[in-house]
Amino acid sequence: RRGASLTDLAEKIGVEPASLVQVLFHLGEMVTATQSVADETLEVLGAELDYNIEVVSPEDEDRELLESFDLEFGEDIGDEDDLEARPPVVTVMGHVDHGKTKLLDALRHTNLVAKEAGGITQAIGAYQVATEVDGQDRSITFIDTPGHEAFTAMRARGAKSTDIAVLVVAADDGVMPQTIEALNHAKAADVPVVVAVNKIDKDAADPTRVRGQLSEFGLVPEEYGGDTQFVDVSAITRQGLDELLEAIVLTADAALDLRANPDMPAQGVAIEAHLDKGRGPVATVLVHRGTLRIGDSIVAGSAHGRVRALINDQGETVDEALPSMPVQVLGLTSVPGAGDNVLVVEDDRMARQIADKREARMRAAQQAKTSRRKTLDQLFEQ
Ligand code: GDP
Ligand code: MG
Repeated sequence: RRGASLTDLAEKIGVEPASLVQVLFHLGEMVTATQSVADETLEVLGAELDYNIEVVSPEDEDRELLESFDLEFGEDIGDEDDLEARPPVVTVMGHVDHGKTKLLDALRHTNLVAKEAGGITQAIGAYQVATEVDGQDRSITFIDTPGHEAFTAMRARGAKSTDIAVLVVAADDGVMPQTIEALNHAKAADVPVVVAVNKIDKDAADPTRVRGQLSEFGLVPEEYGGDTQFVDVSAITRQGLDELLEAIVLTADAALDLRANPDMPAQGVAIEAHLDKGRGPVATVLVHRGTLRIGDSIVAGSAHGRVRALINDQGETVDEALPSMPVQVLGLTSVPGAGDNVLVVEDDRMARQIADKREARMRAAQQAKTSRRKTLDQLFEQ
């Protein structure tokens, strides 16, 4: 594993740590037995000793750690019958200045304006919007961190937190480099795309051109016989916003089976976290499956704690959060990282044990990096 020491390795292969130190010394690396060593060093050592050494990725290692506590992240527990429909989770992507922030803002206020007449709620990094499709109440969760960096970062950490990507393209500007980049990210993640052709209010708007351009990249509009929904919108005049919400729901229904078991210990991802002066560590958690409740013992990355309060996207305190619901969680002992997985575990003790192990692992990996650098420096000094 990452950050293993020579003593760890010696134990695994049944030799004296001192002999490994010696082998490395002859190879020109000065390492003590208890020091964490870099992946490359372990591999070099393996080659020298005729051992096939594979360094376990942090993801695999974390899976193993959770398994040792009889936990599995990323799977619904229970039968097909236990699964219930959950709202789609949407990320907004697109070229800079094409209106991602403005659009997210406009969508966020579709509900707020009606509900509390201009009341200002603090953004928590994600929010749910209610809409009606075919006479049915439906909701959609938007992750309020535009940009594919956040999207990619979370995906890289194994947290598939987005069901649908809304690709924003300004109707006056047309397809630009970051439009294609965003599109490629969505394709790589195998996430269906809904195109919001924005700034339709502008004189220079040419929504037909946008359709033609994106067709060349495989996004063929439904009206041209393809299977991608294109919606003309204006984040300023609010034209087309309801249609956009409807297109998202229809795309979810057509392409995805969005269900989760609400009756299991909650699992999700931290999409944002910070230290609040009065309230301590505050993390916005998007629940993937299960139901998160006040009093639950949780581990979030290398942070742990017991849920003291849950605050929804309207700033209200709630008792629980269902699948696809974003909530602010209070009660953690430290601040987790964005993209860290969040799990409800049996008790505080288990939460602390997992958090401590992750913490130790991170420290070891950090130390391995530093010691590797030192060794090289020493070599060059000679
Ligand atoms: P982002 O970089 O994609 O987040 O883009 P912003 O949301 O910051 O918008 C960039 C600029 O375009 C801002 O000046 C917005 O006011 C403007 N803008 C965004 N949406 C619209 C729209 O629908 N119509 C018009 N006319 N301007 C818009
Ligand atoms: Mg922006």
